[in-house]
Amino acid sequence: MRLSRLWLPTTKETPADAEIVSHRLMLRAGMIRKLGAGIYSWLPLGLRVLRKVETIVRQEMDRAGAQEISMPMVIPAELWQESGRLTKYGPELLRIEDRHQRDFVLGPTHEEVVTDLIRRDLRSYKQLPVTLYQIQTKFRDEIRPRFGIMRGREFLMKDAYSFHLEADDLEREYRNMRAAYARIFERIGVEFRIVKADSGAIGGDRSEEFHVLAGSGEDVLAVSDASDYAANLEAAEAAIPAVRPSAAEALARVATPAQTTCEAVAGLLGEPLSRTVKLVVVKGREQPLAALVLRGDHEVNVVKAAKHPMVAAPLQLAGEAEIRAAFGCPPGFLGPVGACVPVIADRSAAMLADFICGANEVGFHLRGVNWGRDCTEPVVADLRNVVAGDPSPDGRGRLQLVRGIEVGHIFQNGALYTAALGVRVQDEQGGDRIPVAGCYGIGVSRIVAAAIEQRHDEAGIVWPEAIAPFSVIVCPIGAGQSTAVAEAAQNLYDELAAAGVETLLDDRGLRPGPMFADADLIGVPHRVVVGERGLAAGQFEYKRRGAGAAEMIAATAAAVREKLSA
Ligand code: ATP
Ligand code: MG
Repeated sequence: MRLSRLWLPTTKETPADAEIVSHRLMLRAGMIRKLGAGIYSWLPLGLRVLRKVETIVRQEMDRAGAQEISMPMVIPAELWQESGRLTKYGPELLRIEDRHQRDFVLGPTHEEVVTDLIRRDLRSYKQLPVTLYQIQTKFRDEIRPRFGIMRGREFLMKDAYSFHLEADDLEREYRNMRAAYARIFERIGVEFRIVKADSGAIGGDRSEEFHVLAGSGEDVLAVSDASDYAANLEAAEAAIPAVRPSAAEALARVATPAQTTCEAVAGLLGEPLSRTVKLVVVKGREQPLAALVLRGDHEVNVVKAAKHPMVAAPLQLAGEAEIRAAFGCPPGFLGPVGACVPVIADRSAAMLADFICGANEVGFHLRGVNWGRDCTEPVVADLRNVVAGDPSPDGRGRLQLVRGIEVGHIFQNGALYTAALGVRVQDEQGGDRIPVAGCYGIGVSRIVAAAIEQRHDEAGIVWPEAIAPFSVIVCPIGAGQSTAVAEAAQNLYDELAAAGVETLLDDRGLRPGPMFADADLIGVPHRVVVGERGLAAGQFEYKRRGAGAAEMIAATAAAVREKLSA
């Protein structure tokens, strides 16, 4: 491709609303342009990268035995009604109406459509297993679209779905997909981690996410420093602490006139924060309220707490009026002693002795509090977010908190959708069975941004070879003044192109500075400079993107190709 003909509007400025580096670089490198909030056009350079990612995903899906299909993006709302998700999915689901006032949704994911597709033709167990996939534009009306195409409203997803007679066959395919995903991210050339995920309100047995590690990631992951244990913070289990020490102090009531936080009370009493507990009052499932007790230095894990049978899901905090009515005192002075709502203590809080808590009386706290002695033994559960330094739940090493970008998600959803949509299949004995299913998603467009988050420097993008928009950029210097340079550059370009090397020829006649700046910005892995002085010595200048220095090589296409395969 000749750069003079390429629609490549590179810019120096960084747009104000671009908060993260991939968003800035994709705009600056002329890869994408914004049409509306979370809605982007892909320009030629960006689309080349997107297609490369797509191709790798497609090849590995095909290799894993999945079959490509294409499902509609516009879906009759009745189908979502049937699965129960029309209301459950919430406002991310964009609804539209046709001219006959019939309701439709724009597909944010396709479990319903594919399950409907299967139920139309599935008769016998002999047709199973089957894995179908598509690579398609999805729409989710994200509450906060941001970071460019990283969290868009419209984005490209690979979504695959498998159907099985038996759960163990689903488990086999889940592993097959898991392995295919690992190959995909290895081939793309990004550093990733497979992370235990919460299977969420949808239920299901097993779910893992694939994360590209990057400081700008929106997800916090807990990873062991000594094993491959990794879990999304939502799902990371807090290890069970050792034993509770025995009570040593007597219960005492202390005045805390202005201290309404654990920090302030600990400060006043000169005690560590980890000795205090706080009460988080939430709506209960059967009873109106429930009180969660956590150590002052720990935070509630919203997902874990909402799974507790005594707690309403999703988690809802009690209002101040409700708290006053139940405790006879305002928030800031609450504690488990004499509490008249069911108390659930986090494992760590339940292991405390001689702890400090509110006295359920304005202006007072209690110290030297002990479970069983001063208040009833609580119900105990894992309610908190893990923190850095916690022991890894697999017993190996300590947890570190790192940030990740979710680029893939694999999921066993069992009979959830097949049962809801009434799918039936005959088994070998002629019995009527509900098949089980798995679903497997990859954020194809998000991968492009995630790769940039991981691979960039001051000057611009440093593409992994496998998804670079072009492999080589040829930069002639002074081609306007030197026919030798112009011809040598043209010949090199022709020979590389003929050999199937994706080559960009910068024929815009720019001076070296701006020409190299663009080459660095768009991140082409190999740069060949054709200059008069080099040619006189029979040499090109070669530089690998991201390498420190350039080197001189023989002025032949063969010498350049040798560098590409090095
Ligand atoms: P997130 O937690 O980031 O919102 P999700 O759990 O909603 O993701 P899934 O429903 O599992 O995502 O979708 C499969 C994949 O699609 C995700 O792993 C992610 O890579 C990608 N994806 C999801 N939402 C977006 C979005 N708004 N923009 C770009 N890619 C997305
Ligand atoms: Mg989401």
